[in-house]
Amino acid sequence: MARLTDKVALVTGSSQGIGAEIARRLAAEGAAVAVNYIAGSEAAACDVVACIQAAGGTADAFKADVGDPESVAALVDAVAERFGRLDVLVNNAGITRDGLLVRMSDEDWGDVIRTNLTGAFLMTRAAAKLMMKARSGSIINISSVVGIAGNAGQVNYASAKAGLIGMTKSVARELASRNVRVNAVAPGFIETDMTAALPAATREAALGSIAMKRMGTPADIAAVVVFLASDEAAYITGQTLAVDGGMTFA
Ligand code: NAP
Repeated sequence: MARLTDKVALVTGSSQGIGAEIARRLAAEGAAVAVNYIAGSEAAACDVVACIQAAGGTADAFKADVGDPESVAALVDAVAERFGRLDVLVNNAGITRDGLLVRMSDEDWGDVIRTNLTGAFLMTRAAAKLMMKARSGSIINISSVVGIAGNAGQVNYASAKAGLIGMTKSVARELASRNVRVNAVAPGFIETDMTAALPAATREAALGSIAMKRMGTPADIAAVVVFLASDEAAYITGQTLAVDGGMTFA
C-alpha cells in the first residue's frame, strides 16, 4: 500500500539530481508533490512534473529562490493554495562554491550559507506555521557527511551542512509537542551533476573512503526520505541519518 496517500510534499531544488528523485519517489507513494526550481530550470522541473503525472501521480512546478524571504513566503502560500495543505517539506536545494579557506571570497561564503542554510531556515519557518496548525508534519533536511566530518576546500559548504544538523535538532525540540517531526539525511558521495563536476582524482579518493566501494545514487537517498516522511518513522525526530555506503561510521 502507498505510504503517503493524501499527503502533500514540497521538495526544494527538485528540478534535477537528488531532489528530482525524491519528488518522483514521494509521488510514487501517493503524495501530491510541489516541485520547486529557480529561474532557468523551468524545463527540467516540468519534465519532473510530467514524469510524475505520466505515472499517475499529482505534481506541479513552483518557481522560487529559497534564499529570498519574499520568494519563500510566496512559494509556501502558492503550494497551500494549490494543494490545500502541507505535510512534508524536504529542504534539498543546495549549491557548492569550493575553495581553500585562505582563498575563499566573501561572496562564495555568503552564497553557500544563503542557499544551503538560510534557505532551509526560511522554508522551515514558513512551513512550520501550517504544520503546527495541522498538528502534523515531517521536515527532512538534506545535509551531508561533510557536515559531520568536515572537508578541506569546503569550509562554506561544511559549515552550512553542519548548521543544518543543529537546525534539525533545535526545530525538532520546538515542534515535537505539535507532532511535527524534523530529521536530517546526510548523503555521502552521490552520482549527480554536483559530483560529476569533480576532478577524476577527487572522485577516486572519495571512492577509496567508501566501505561499500561504490558511489550512492539519488534513489538511495530518496528511499530514506520517503521512510522519514511516512508514518513508519512516527517515533523518529531530531536524528541525522548518514546514507553513505559506510564512509563515516566510527
Ligand atoms: P544538484 O544536482 O546540483 O541539484 C541541486 C538543486 O538545487 C538544483 O535543482 C538547483 O537548481 C537547486 N537550487 C540551487 N539553488 C537554489 C535556490 N536558491 N532555490 C531553489 N533551488 C535551488 O545537486 P544534488 O547533488 O542533487 O544535491 C541535492 C542536495 O543534496 C544538496 O543540498 C546537496 O548539498 C546535497 N548533497 C549532495 C551530495 C552529492 O554527492 N551529490 C552529497 C551530500 C549532500 P538549478 O539547477 O536551477 O541551479
